[in-house]
Amino acid sequence: MVNKDVIVVGGGIAGLTAALSLAHKGKDVLLIEKNDHCGGLMNSFVRDGFRFEGGARALVNAGLVKPLIKEFGIDIEVLPNPISLGIEDRILRIDGEESLFAYAELLKALYTDSTDEVDRIIQAIHSIIEDMKVLYGVDNPLFTKKKKNILTLAPSVIAWIFKFMRTMYRISKMDTPFEDSLDAISSNQSLKDIIGQHFFRKTPVFFALSYFALYNDYIYPKGGVGALIQKLVDAIVQRGGEVRVDTEIAGVDPYNKIITDTAGNAYHYKRMIWAGDLKALYATAKDAGLAEKDKALFFRAKESILRQKGAESVFSVFVGADLPPDTFRAIASGHAFYTPDRRGLGAIHTAELKSLLLRWDSVQKDEVFAWLRGFCRHNTFEISIPVLRDADAAPPGKTGVIISALFDYGLTQKVKAAGWYEEFKRRVEEEFIETLSSSIYPGLKDKILFRFSASPASIYDRVRSSEGSIVGWSFEGDIPVVTSMFRMADSVNTPLPDVYAAGKWVYSPAGGPTAIMTGRIAAKRCLKG
Ligand SMILES: Cc1cc2nc3c(=O)[nH]c(=O)nc-3n(C[C@H](O)[C@H](O)[C@H](O)COP(=O)(O)OP(=O)(O)OC[C@H]3O[C@@H](n4cnc5c(N)ncnc54)[C@H](O)[C@@H]3O)c2cc1C
Repeated sequence: MVNKDVIVVGGGIAGLTAALSLAHKGKDVLLIEKNDHCGGLMNSFVRDGFRFEGGARALVNAGLVKPLIKEFGIDIEVLPNPISLGIEDRILRIDGEESLFAYAELLKALYTDSTDEVDRIIQAIHSIIEDMKVLYGVDNPLFTKKKKNILTLAPSVIAWIFKFMRTMYRISKMDTPFEDSLDAISSNQSLKDIIGQHFFRKTPVFFALSYFALYNDYIYPKGGVGALIQKLVDAIVQRGGEVRVDTEIAGVDPYNKIITDTAGNAYHYKRMIWAGDLKALYATAKDAGLAEKDKALFFRAKESILRQKGAESVFSVFVGADLPPDTFRAIASGHAFYTPDRRGLGAIHTAELKSLLLRWDSVQKDEVFAWLRGFCRHNTFEISIPVLRDADAAPPGKTGVIISALFDYGLTQKVKAAGWYEEFKRRVEEEFIETLSSSIYPGLKDKILFRFSASPASIYDRVRSSEGSIVGWSFEGDIPVVTSMFRMADSVNTPLPDVYAAGKWVYSPAGGPTAIMTGRIAAKRCLKG
């Protein structure tokens, strides 16, 4: 049987951060990944010479990614990743903080009856951006060498610590759903939709409105997000760690400290970090042999974790276009958030979708397709064009485009069960492309070389993320994990002896940065014990 100091299950960014931190300290570490390559929701792939991101389209630095690259001496060039925001025919290229005021002008030009409300929303965003500067304005201490004695810290750093604590306190008070906060400011539903419809339902207001600050914080690794992932894998191996792909863990026996894969192979660990979906850990772990106290804690956590759901998922359409990059460059940056219709989604993604799902057995396909058309015409799309950030990402004179929008996992599952999943996928691809062809990118649909898509169901199949969630728990139910920044360090603990957890399911709200942070904290726990 394989015998290791530490086994990390799951080779997403959380598991990779954990495994690399451990290998760097000389631990005998094995990383086990279900797929044929690591990265999870951060990956790149090539189709017919076009490179695409299958998951996150770029990285939010968040005071973490660049320090991580530096600490481990990862040899990779980091390219800028400028963002554009667009509504109908108005496109704004974000260029620093001042763009917030240009965004206000854009909104005022579209919502002429709500200019005061625009000002108040922008003021709320501005105040959150000031808080973000305190949080992300310096490199995260998790990845920087710490001084041992507070007396040796520069006064400016001590001042920063106090500012940081005050900011953390303010943030902890801003946990109401962003919809409620916007309702308190404005009664213009379209304006509120445009601000918030590309966030997960009931996202805490701090997290949602802080996004404007993050637009200036995105970076793109040369060679794509997957190139950075591959360098992290190489760095683990160079430090003596082992990475085993094509291996899915299906059984956990915490008493004997043994995990087993789907082929029946067993692995013994002294410590384990679970960096996959927490539901899978709690569903598969056996309680036999555990102390009564641990058993009780395990069952309590298991019950609340298995009851809750993941946040909405994403539908992505990948397009190879026979158009030169300059055609797209003239319109917007290589990473854009675009809404083709100022009216916004209104009830389409809420009441109308709910009604469709409730009446599903009597709903006709045409009704679903009619809903889909309205959904696409009024939605906000994330559009990513890798070649506009990295010239090597497409064959000369051609352009790859990734178009995505938040999408309901339940709808995808119902269509699948009804047996017309492939037809549905084709229809979504057509609607996404048609929508952008009749708005931001005229003529795109006539220059398509190939197209394909990934639905919420594909996300589950690929990374085993419940409900196809890309950021962990839904904000619509009770969140069964740590939600306070003050307690982030506790998020990696589990009731199972010597088992820690990391990644998007262990802390909420989550995303790339928290996956990295929890990976690092879990590694520190393993090193300490
Ligand atoms: C389209 C898209 C856009 C995004 N945009 C952003 C963004 O702008 N900003 C942001 O912060 N985040 C964004 N995200 C989310 C971000 O990518 C994820 O939250 C983050 O990468 C999660 O990392 P993770 O390591 O926790 O989980 P994952 O990436 O899901 O990794 C888990 C890994 O564990 C493996 N695994 C699971 N179960 C097992 C098992 N039993 N045995 C072995 N292996 C297993 C999986 O195959 C997977 O590789 C986006 C995601 C997508 C898909």
